[in-house]
Amino acid sequence: MSTEPRIPLSAPVLDGNEARYLQECIDTRWVSRGGRFVREFEALFASRHGLDDAVSTDSGTAALHVALLAAGIGPGDEVIVPALTFVATVNPVLYVGATPVFADLDPVTYGMDAGAVEAAVTERTKAILVVHLYGHPVDMTRITEVARRHGLRVIEDATESLGSTWEGRPTGTLGDIAAFSFNGNKIITTGGGGMLLARDPETVARMRHLTLQARVPGTLEYLHDDVGYNYALSNLQAAVGLAQLERLDAMIEHRRGLAARYAEALGDPAETGLTFCAEVPPARSNFWLMSVLVDPEIHGRDRHAVIAGLAEAGVESRPFFTPMPELVHLRRFARGEHPVASRLHAEGVSIPSSADLDEAGQERVIAALLGGQRGAASASTASRTRRVASPSRGPA
Ligand SMILES: *Cc1c(COP(=O)(O)O)cnc(C)c1O
Repeated sequence: MSTEPRIPLSAPVLDGNEARYLQECIDTRWVSRGGRFVREFEALFASRHGLDDAVSTDSGTAALHVALLAAGIGPGDEVIVPALTFVATVNPVLYVGATPVFADLDPVTYGMDAGAVEAAVTERTKAILVVHLYGHPVDMTRITEVARRHGLRVIEDATESLGSTWEGRPTGTLGDIAAFSFNGNKIITTGGGGMLLARDPETVARMRHLTLQARVPGTLEYLHDDVGYNYALSNLQAAVGLAQLERLDAMIEHRRGLAARYAEALGDPAETGLTFCAEVPPARSNFWLMSVLVDPEIHGRDRHAVIAGLAEAGVESRPFFTPMPELVHLRRFARGEHPVASRLHAEGVSIPSSADLDEAGQERVIAALLGGQRGAASASTASRTRRVASPSRGPA
């Protein structure tokens, strides 16, 4: 085991106004829903997306649940979801009693493939739930065309893609409703939390109502006009969120710098057997969680051995998510094969991507990735011989 400090996968960086804002919550005793930070966090979040309003929630999962409710999705409806994502994309479809239908992914961007989405449409389909997986935007031009042709709602699971853009427009503003997450390892964190966006003001009002116990405003009486939820974000969480959001651009720029160096140092996949995650225009990625696909034939190790090798060097890494149709509670919704999702799961390794990972730390990650490679003992060890990556694989 390495005696050097452990390098985490995606650790929060909390060195801005977080402590000062939290202290203000304590000093003023505004710790729960009331207080200035919830309002200010929502306002800054909305304005960053060119919108007037945003609705905070206590998790991304809650945000997705409310998004589906506000879209009017319920029993008998089908929602097309990616075959590979974090499980919290799909569980809310079950919360509202609808049926998830899995579509396979694009092998380069890991986004839901528009052709696979169209093939999954039936007369029961109500919505397409896209996930901008690991931060890279889905091809929203083609998804939007499919949605228009079939009269479907588009809901964005933008929990991993805050700050990413498609044709210059931020993810979360490209469909009808969007959900974000501020869990501990996301691009910004509130410890736990989420946000909802929608273009239609009535939808926004409906979502806010549902997150606040559906309590009728404007009266002291406890009047509730629907099944509501306690999904509100606290002032403590929003205080951290506001401080995080103030520095989002700098954190994304740091990650993009890491991506450029990874792409360069990891070299040619035909030689190393490691394919670094892509950025395909007109997408611009926040590079929330960077990754490599391991081709064991060329690399000489499979992804299990790569993960073990990184752990040995004190570097945290993770396999890709398990394909949804393989999870026990979702198996009954599986229809046919999802070869791209299966291959990504077999080969994918998420690698350290924190906004404070420094160059020395990144060199350790790269050395551990390339060091165990077949023929790595030769003089061409790529951690020393930097190769220039093809522009299509790294950020501009
Ligand atoms: C993190 C995440 C969620 C859920 O967000 P939480 O805030 O953890 O509830 C949903 N979908 C995806 C793709 C995620 O990565």
